Amino acid sequence: DVSPVDQPIHEFVLGRAAEFGELPALIDGTDGTTLTYAQVDRFHRRIAAALAEAGVRKGDVIALHSPNTVAFPTAFYAATRAGASVTTVHPLSTPEEFARQLGDSKARWIITVSPLLESARRAAELAGGVQEIFVCDSAPGHRSLIDMLGSTAPEPEIDIEPGEDIAALPYSSGTTGVPKGVMLTHRQIATNLVQLDAAVTAGPGERVLAVLPFFHIYGLTALMNAPLRKGATVVVLPRFDLETFLAAIQNHRITALYVAPPIVLALAKHPAVENYDLSSLKYLICSAAPLDAQLAAACSQRLNLPPIGQAYGMTELSPGSHVVPLDAIGEAPPGTVGRLIAGTEMRIVSLDDPDKDLGVGESGEILIRGPQVMKGYLGRPDATSALIDADGWLHTGDVGHVDSGGWLFVVDRVKELIKYKGFQVAPAELEALLLTHPCIADAAVIGVYDDNGNEVPRAYVVRQQLAADLTESEVMMYVAERVAPYKRVRQVTFIEGVPRAASGKILRRELRERT
Ligand code: ATP
Ligand code: MG
Repeated sequence: DVSPVDQPIHEFVLGRAAEFGELPALIDGTDGTTLTYAQVDRFHRRIAAALAEAGVRKGDVIALHSPNTVAFPTAFYAATRAGASVTTVHPLSTPEEFARQLGDSKARWIITVSPLLESARRAAELAGGVQEIFVCDSAPGHRSLIDMLGSTAPEPEIDIEPGEDIAALPYSSGTTGVPKGVMLTHRQIATNLVQLDAAVTAGPGERVLAVLPFFHIYGLTALMNAPLRKGATVVVLPRFDLETFLAAIQNHRITALYVAPPIVLALAKHPAVENYDLSSLKYLICSAAPLDAQLAAACSQRLNLPPIGQAYGMTELSPGSHVVPLDAIGEAPPGTVGRLIAGTEMRIVSLDDPDKDLGVGESGEILIRGPQVMKGYLGRPDATSALIDADGWLHTGDVGHVDSGGWLFVVDRVKELIKYKGFQVAPAELEALLLTHPCIADAAVIGVYDDNGNEVPRAYVVRQQLAADLTESEVMMYVAERVAPYKRVRQVTFIEGVPRAASGKILRRELRERT
């Protein structure tokens, strides 16, 4: 079992920062700028003091609008230490999208970086209600976090109730609809870190590559909170670019990689991988979207690594419920997203009859209950009660099954299942199969209606370079030879790239809008 953590998130994560002292906490993977643990500790306290002096009060919402930088964690913990809740913003949001999040979250403050300042200003204008925009680096007319380091204001003494107060207000990825503000308390995030410990290698000497965005809850947990709590070094990249990413692994001797399926795909298939020495890697952990077992195996074999360990969760779970513990990576069956973590319960219920619990091997909707279930969606009581029932079970909207050893397998989202003449077809399964074709670089599958009114799978296929002659019928044949007839792909469209969210998920609704 697990006892709920009774500390604010900054104290929980940075509690040993002074002790780790001169160890590097964060290194910029592009220019080498380094922050030690002692600096992160001192800097976030000074900035908290300056924020309080600038007028930030307990319960205020601060929008943190930045790509991954070494300053990001300092800004985050400074904000929570000042008593604020942090709503993390996608750095590529349009001013309109950003304004919507500002308005929805009622943010009073923005912390941004100078290259994004224009967009932040425009968003603040559109939304109204923003009192001040701070910058992490420097920009004329704006207070900078760097200047705040010189603040002589007293450190704020804020009385934070870990079980009540909101530390983070991330927005869900918006894969299935409008992104929703997810209220996560200090206790929910910290408790989930304890629960996820078994999947985190990070201690002093370990080097983690932060290539997935900090603003998404997966990055926030796996790449920021978890390693910084343990004294590991986080090497920060602002975005995913394959060559820069491979060079960073090689040059910084990265030991653990936390990624999403598109990166596994690149590692398994891209020729550039051969040009780099990736021998420092010990673990590869994947989450955020379905990962095919065959693709996972191809990747770990190519890199000469133990099998890829998966984890499963969602923003509303702070974010985890299942992991493959690192010490069980060898025994976990291929394709599993993991075992239930401590203090958490699961049910799998029938899609036709939600009151019916299913047994081993039977697929149904995954329900989760535990201390990491969010406090609620901000300002959306109806959406909250639609997700979390009166008994505290969170209905994930994902379909899965467990084996006799308790290992969970996620099939796909309930809403994405294609119903072909009464049979259910999971797009994720067809996508995985398509990726095994040597001429296919990437693929996405959605259900569309054919002329007879049947919902049928349509594949969007990105051809490998030098495979321009791959035809639609070849693609359909390839699938038809390998699946039951009801699962056949019935339409194929070639495209240049698969639309994905920052967390790596396929944006099937964007494909649907194109049809
Ligand atoms: P929205 O709720 O706004 O539509 P979203 O559900 O994509 O967006 P997230 O909270 O980022 O937002 O993602 C959670 C979802 O990611 C899960 O519900 C599940 O569908 C998927 N997911 C997470 N981990 C895995 C995994 N290991 N395997 C398969 N799917 C996963
Ligand atoms: Mg969701």
